[in-house]
Amino acid sequence: MTKHAYDQKVEEFMALIKAKNPGEREYHQAVHEVAESLIPYIEEHPHYKEAKVLERIAEPERVIIFRVPWQDDKGVIQINRGFRIEMNSAIGPYKGGLRFHPTVNLGILKFLAFEQVFKNSLTSLPLGGGKGGSDFDPKGKSDNEVMHFCQSFMSELYRHIGPNTDIPAGDIGVGGREIGYMFGQYKRLKNEFTGVLTGKSPNWGGSLIRPEATGYGATYIAQEMMKLQNESFKGKTVAVSGSGNVAQFATQKVTELGGMVVSLSDSSGSIYDPKGIDKEKLEYVMYLKNVKRGRIKEYAEKYNAEYMEGQRPWSVKCDVAIPSATENEINQEEAKTLVSNGCKVVSEGANMPCTPEAMAVFQDKRVLYAPGKAANAGGVAVSGLEMTQNSMRMPWTREEVDSRLQIIMKSIHSACVKYGKRDDGSIDYVKGSNIAGFVKVADSMIAQGAV
Ligand code: NDP
Repeated sequence: MTKHAYDQKVEEFMALIKAKNPGEREYHQAVHEVAESLIPYIEEHPHYKEAKVLERIAEPERVIIFRVPWQDDKGVIQINRGFRIEMNSAIGPYKGGLRFHPTVNLGILKFLAFEQVFKNSLTSLPLGGGKGGSDFDPKGKSDNEVMHFCQSFMSELYRHIGPNTDIPAGDIGVGGREIGYMFGQYKRLKNEFTGVLTGKSPNWGGSLIRPEATGYGATYIAQEMMKLQNESFKGKTVAVSGSGNVAQFATQKVTELGGMVVSLSDSSGSIYDPKGIDKEKLEYVMYLKNVKRGRIKEYAEKYNAEYMEGQRPWSVKCDVAIPSATENEINQEEAKTLVSNGCKVVSEGANMPCTPEAMAVFQDKRVLYAPGKAANAGGVAVSGLEMTQNSMRMPWTREEVDSRLQIIMKSIHSACVKYGKRDDGSIDYVKGSNIAGFVKVADSMIAQGAV
């Protein structure tokens, strides 16, 4: 079949998706990216086509939407909307984070849940895919208000989840504090102490290395891609975006491996510190973001670094980029700027941070480009390890968890290499991760019948 014929099949498939899911832009984008890799593969393996596996995967098993009323500190009633997308349970219970951010809507959560299905399959752990959250904005809210919101959110969500059914975790706006409030409410309603959420504190069932896992994992994948080219982080300049959980621990691991991180950002702007964000400066960032809950601009003021108001950090000179803030945060122009400034490796800490046009630039220029479903799978992988420890009622050491994380990230890299080799010998990590993630889920769905 010619490329043109495949493109036509992708467009026909996308016409169905768009008709069924009108206005869900991010969902269309995520499905399109996967369909481009999978439709040629499915044409070569017709049993997947006959079983309509891709059509089934693109339809959530269940979508739950609910009202979340709560009272703010002034006694005023606020109403938010809560969601849980239970996307696919072919290889395990639904698993995926909760996002609290004002931009949250059905289409964004469906894109994240869809990605999660493939990502979780890549980890080689028995985890299905899900995602959820709310349009609630924790920024500027008191701890008391966040607690009231989390309790109300869990008062509805608890009846849909469980340690063998659906196990949520954190994402944007949901860290240790929010997981704690939600876990407390679940325990109170069910009168059960179970591992129903991951990302818990180690004092009450959390895994060591879970907070670090996504940032570390994205760094390990970049390291694996470089290793294949006889390269390493030593002496490399690295641009990171975001300044939350993923960005902080990517910065930490890159620095440990001998690289120098020169940028961070938040939704107000970016900082550029050409001298590098060393251990001490990172400690300040962690205090600023996790305790003081301030803005990244304050870093620039404290360390006399450059602050780029309202801008993303992709104009800085770097060898490696680890986007770790949010979706569509690198566009075509920014991708071109990164490449012309010498960037040769991109590892997506965030989910879908590159627009399709930016992805095309990286693919075309043969940048070592690891998409989110491979690069940021370390978070859910350690969440899976947290579930194992909860079932055993036995915690592992940091070293044990980190070494398992490294093994998983290496095996994800190998799976991408296996399915993503191009004719010229280079690796298409997008195709590799999509096909590797798909095969296990698709085979399981076929084995389980028309479900
Ligand atoms: P955090 O909430 O800890 O941090 C998010 C960071 O990104 C903050 O610096 C935030 O800035 C910035 N940001 C959020 N939304 C926007 C926006 N619309 N525009 C610009 N900047 C924005 O989240 P995480 O670090 O956990 O998540 C970051 C990314 O990583 C997300 O794409 C998430 O889906 C992905 N991810 C996270 C995993 C995890 O384990 N936490 C696992 C796998 C993927 P501000 O404070 O100003 O909002």
